Amino acid sequence: MIDTHCHLTDPRLAAQLDAVLARAAAAGVRRMITIGTTPADAAAAVAVCRGRDFLRCAVGVHPNHAHEVDPNDLPAYRTFHANPAVVAVGEIGLDYHHRFAPVPRQRATFEAQLALAAELDKPVVIHGRDATDDVLAILRSFPAVRAVFHCFTGTPAEARAILDAGYFVGFTGAVTYKKNDALREALRLCPRDRVLIETDAPYLSPEPVRKQKTNEPAFVAHVADCVAREWSVDVAEVDRVTTANAVALFGWGR
Ligand SMILES: [Zn+2]
Repeated sequence: MIDTHCHLTDPRLAAQLDAVLARAAAAGVRRMITIGTTPADAAAAVAVCRGRDFLRCAVGVHPNHAHEVDPNDLPAYRTFHANPAVVAVGEIGLDYHHRFAPVPRQRATFEAQLALAAELDKPVVIHGRDATDDVLAILRSFPAVRAVFHCFTGTPAEARAILDAGYFVGFTGAVTYKKNDALREALRLCPRDRVLIETDAPYLSPEPVRKQKTNEPAFVAHVADCVAREWSVDVAEVDRVTTANAVALFGWGR
């Protein structure tokens, strides 16, 4: 099983990294992609992959940090991308919920990183919070760029728009929450070859550990269980399909 999106550099996980990785292995989570959200976090993400062949990372400027990073520093990301552990640009996008960075700054940062992804021929990990339409509009200018909409929590109609544009959809523990029937409906309308599973740890612990525990990659198994129920298949089939999808998108293990 692959956890396609986690934050192992977050202090809550970094402080107990060996135990977190051991529990992931015990749960059958053989591979993880950790995300670097700022230049400093990118350096940490690359470092955590060193000597651990079961880890890869994505690095980018998260829209909630766009105001803290000088656009002139973005070319420095080429150095990170020269490292073979870096399989994607991300997470990047727009966040209209928090708006920590002014929207024009978010857009400029997003577009500059999409241009880099196109140039490097790497996929992108999209963070789009309350901004699906604008994210899709910007992506239209970069038709060669492959993408996953990570931590999808939108409506079935938004899922349809993402699928029609040819992108992957990433599901977290949010899909396990009792009240999220519409999200499970969105999952069911996704062709199986477009679905990725992820934790977004340390955020969004899935049921049944939602209230008890900080999220960690081992718990992607609970997301897989939920997908298996919605698909009426066993969890081994979910593992097989979503691993193949991750390999197709990220080119890791192909
Ligand atoms: Zn994330």
